[in-house]
Amino acid sequence: MLKKIEKEFKHRLDIIYTRDESSVLFKMIISFLIRDNINNIVNKELSESQLINFDQFTTQLLAHQPIQYVLGEADFYHIKFKVNRDVLIPRPETEELVYLIICEQSNKEVTVLDIGTGSGCIPIALKKNLPLAQICAIDISESALVLANENAILNKAEVIFSKADALNLVSSEWSQFDVIVSNPPYIAQSEMEMMEENVKSHEPHLALFVDDDEPLIFYDKIGDFALSNLKLGGTLYFEINQQLAKETADILMKKGFTTTIIKDINQNDRILKAQLLG
Ligand code: GLN
Repeated sequence: MLKKIEKEFKHRLDIIYTRDESSVLFKMIISFLIRDNINNIVNKELSESQLINFDQFTTQLLAHQPIQYVLGEADFYHIKFKVNRDVLIPRPETEELVYLIICEQSNKEVTVLDIGTGSGCIPIALKKNLPLAQICAIDISESALVLANENAILNKAEVIFSKADALNLVSSEWSQFDVIVSNPPYIAQSEMEMMEENVKSHEPHLALFVDDDEPLIFYDKIGDFALSNLKLGGTLYFEINQQLAKETADILMKKGFTTTIIKDINQNDRILKAQLLG
């Protein structure tokens, strides 16, 4: 019976999750196994193989693995994405970044480049909502690109992915874009201590962390690239470290960009918009 399984599950997870969190996790697992909404299945039983999977998932959760890696999928902007440990789990704050771009670029035939795409969540969500846009995305990680491509196919979104290093982009190899977007690594090594166990032990450090002595290196290099590869009147959209919003804006301002800092739903400085206004 599901009720009994749920009780046992919550009891096992008590050491790391609150009861409310366990409830959500239980619903996610059962919906995943049954491929239906939990509300439609309260009277159902799990099959033998579903029970085995359920047990494996519980063990993985007990090892602090994030639920999205355990199930191999995550929701982002109402779209399902495959995820694995080669890519960051898409975050709600990044949905806010995507929402802003969609609002500001709707119905325009824009060209877009996403730098450091990971699972491909940004360009795919953009393409689904900005069908007129031509979208390219890059990452330095080949395994991330494999997954991003799978996600584009899965979601029937036309995005061109290629391998490139955000810190060493050669401007002559790229055309000019109307929009450049990036959620680069921005957490300083020294901030790692304060992070949740399931983030720091399981998510790719390549996508998260930067050196303490150069925490804004990605913004600096991408800003330089945008100076030559963003069209006049185009917009650069960044997700940023809330602790370094002013410093990040300063870097872009020194290069000649007009900047705007935008807060996320939690009132943290989260998005930086930079424009070349000619
Ligand atoms: N917002 C993410 C977090 O707090 C970090 C994303 C990033 O480094 N680009 O975990």
